[in-house]
Amino acid sequence: MSFWNFFRRKKQNLFSINQEDKNLMLTKINFYKKLNSKERLSFELQVSNFLNTTKITGIKTTVDQTDRILIASSAVIPIFAFDNWEYRNLTEVLLYPEHFDENFNIGSKSKFILGMVGNGAMEGTMILSKKALHHGFDNKTDKLNTAVHEFIHLIDKADGRIDGLIGGVKENLLVLPWLDFMQGKIRDIQKNKSDIRTYGATNNAEFLAVAGEYFFERPKLLKKKHPELYGYLSEFFNLPPALKHSSNIKNVD
Ligand SMILES: [Zn+2]
Repeated sequence: MSFWNFFRRKKQNLFSINQEDKNLMLTKINFYKKLNSKERLSFELQVSNFLNTTKITGIKTTVDQTDRILIASSAVIPIFAFDNWEYRNLTEVLLYPEHFDENFNIGSKSKFILGMVGNGAMEGTMILSKKALHHGFDNKTDKLNTAVHEFIHLIDKADGRIDGLIGGVKENLLVLPWLDFMQGKIRDIQKNKSDIRTYGATNNAEFLAVAGEYFFERPKLLKKKHPELYGYLSEFFNLPPALKHSSNIKNVD
C-alpha cells in the first residue's frame, strides 16, 4: 500500500490533497513550486492538516476549493520549516468578500482593512478579504500577501503578545540586536529610504509581518537589497533548502 493510500484509508473522513489541488498549488503558490518532491509532500500534508483542524466560513461570500487551498498555503508557508507547528490560537478563518472597517462593515469607505487577527470576543478567529487573499498569490512580484502577513502575526502571537519577536529570536538571544535592527529599518522607511512598504513602519509587529511578506514573495530581491534582514528572517523562519539555494548571492549571517 502506498503511503498516500495508507494516509487516505487512515483518515477516510478527512480532507486530503488530490491532483487537482496539487496543480492549483503549482500554478498559484510559488513557494510550493520551488520545493523538491519530498518537501512538496510535507507541504501537502501540512495543508491537509490545517484544513482538517480549521473551520473556514464565508461571510456574504462563498468559499470554494481554491480559497481553501490559498488560505491553508498561507498558513503553512511561514511555519513550513518548523517542527510540528500547530496554530493553537486559531480555530476559524472568516472570509469576507473584500475590505472592511474596525466595526466589521464590509466595503466600508472609511477604513480599508484587508486582514485581521481577532482579539477578545474574536479570539481564535482570523478575518481575511477574499480579494486580498487572491491578489496575494495572483501578483507574485509586489511583495504583498495579506494572508501570509496575518499568519505571521499569529506566529508572533503564540507567546501571548504580537510584538515583532517570534520564538526563534528569543531562543537565540537575538532580542536586543533584532529590536535595534528593526528600529533602524523603520527609520529608513520613515525617511523614504526603503523599498519596504510604509505600513511596516507602524510598529515592530507590523515591521515583522510586512518584511515577512517581502521575504516569502521576493526572497532573492530581499537578499540583494536587505542582506542583514534576510539573514534574520532566514533564522526566524528556518528557510527551507529549496529557497535557500535559489540565489547565488552569498549567505549573510
Ligand atoms: Zn498587520
